[in-house]
Amino acid sequence: MVESEDKPKESPDQRGRKVRVAFRRNRSKPPRVTDHTRQARESEDNEIDGDRVENVTAKGGLSRRRTVIIRDDDAGDTDLRRGTVVAMRGLFAEVDDGFRVYSCTARRVLRTRLIKERHPVTIGDHVRFRLEMSAAGAAKEGVIEAVDPRRGQLRRLAGRRVQTIVANVDQAIIVSAAGEPAPKAHLIDRYIVAAHAGDITPIVCMNKIDLDRDGSAAEMLERYADLGYRVLRTSAVSGAGIEELRSVLKGNSSVVAGQSGVGKSSMLNAVQPGLALKVGDVVERTTKGRHTTTTAGLIRLEFGGFVVDTPGIKSFDLSTVPRNEYEALFVEFVPFVADCKFADCTHIHETGCAVMEAVESGRIHPERYESYVRLFQEPTEPQWKRRGVE
Ligand code: GDP
Ligand code: ZN
Repeated sequence: MVESEDKPKESPDQRGRKVRVAFRRNRSKPPRVTDHTRQARESEDNEIDGDRVENVTAKGGLSRRRTVIIRDDDAGDTDLRRGTVVAMRGLFAEVDDGFRVYSCTARRVLRTRLIKERHPVTIGDHVRFRLEMSAAGAAKEGVIEAVDPRRGQLRRLAGRRVQTIVANVDQAIIVSAAGEPAPKAHLIDRYIVAAHAGDITPIVCMNKIDLDRDGSAAEMLERYADLGYRVLRTSAVSGAGIEELRSVLKGNSSVVAGQSGVGKSSMLNAVQPGLALKVGDVVERTTKGRHTTTTAGLIRLEFGGFVVDTPGIKSFDLSTVPRNEYEALFVEFVPFVADCKFADCTHIHETGCAVMEAVESGRIHPERYESYVRLFQEPTEPQWKRRGVE
């Protein structure tokens, strides 16, 4: 049912706020103290391009999820420039300082620190780098000296390790269409969970709003506005909401996610002509006879900000998220979870489940609960990873 017209309503803009999620860490298992297989594998991984990285591990080791923080002692030097890694090409990071893009190595950092990740520097990293001059005095290339701590991250499992594909992503624009294809609440919920898991702010966008003749798509969107998410109504055809989308993208690093056909390319083109042509463009180059693939990365928006353009992120991998954390990623479940009879309640079949009671009493939307059950019951990787969800 569409809500009554006479009820005064705030605009989604005023109501939109950042939804933060808190993990209930007391439920998670403590990390294993020693894992010799893993240690052995990691030391193999340290061999990057023939250089063995110096082992400076402090006791306690590093956890899988640890954020890379590399700080050289001279990182405060004034001759260091700041930039954002916009693409990776083999071992080279392409760093955009806002004026141009420099090809940088991070090899010195690799030699002086043990970095327990396959990619100590990745797309989206905010780095400080030093320019190396050629004999003629022209800027030749850069050397990355420091990498800032990462915020929002798109991750995936590489074997048993968590890999960051893109760092410092502020927000995910989760796009559905009012029709052709019809919006699917469970897909929206899945993307929201994945965004929260990466500490990325989800923004729920309903495109093709011109096709929403019965208002049912707007109604679905209202569900998310009521949960506190920022929502957008757009039409790449009529131009409705495109100015607002532009203001949402401005100054942020955003990933645009959604099923194919919902109009992501059309929206991006409406925001900045030609943008969608770049998105999805993977360039292959040959360096010294070797074939290296440039991992497309961030595209700078002419009005400020970046759009993430990385293959392999469209499925929003959830395999890095432990199942028992899902309850915390459905924001409206959180107040009820503490009242479940069993501390380890999965909210699927238990008696005395406060979440299921809230569904019964209408305080949790039944489709949101269905999404939770569906996600919870998904086979864990590797089976479902192969299936992929777009
Ligand atoms: P993508 O796969 O998500 O990038 O979707 P596209 O941008 O390729 O759009 C898929 C189809 O939807 C195209 O035929 C577009 O012309 C159409 N389309 C995109 N946005 C809108 C919209 O706002 N309204 C309508 N009616 N059609 C749209
Ligand atoms: Zn429960």
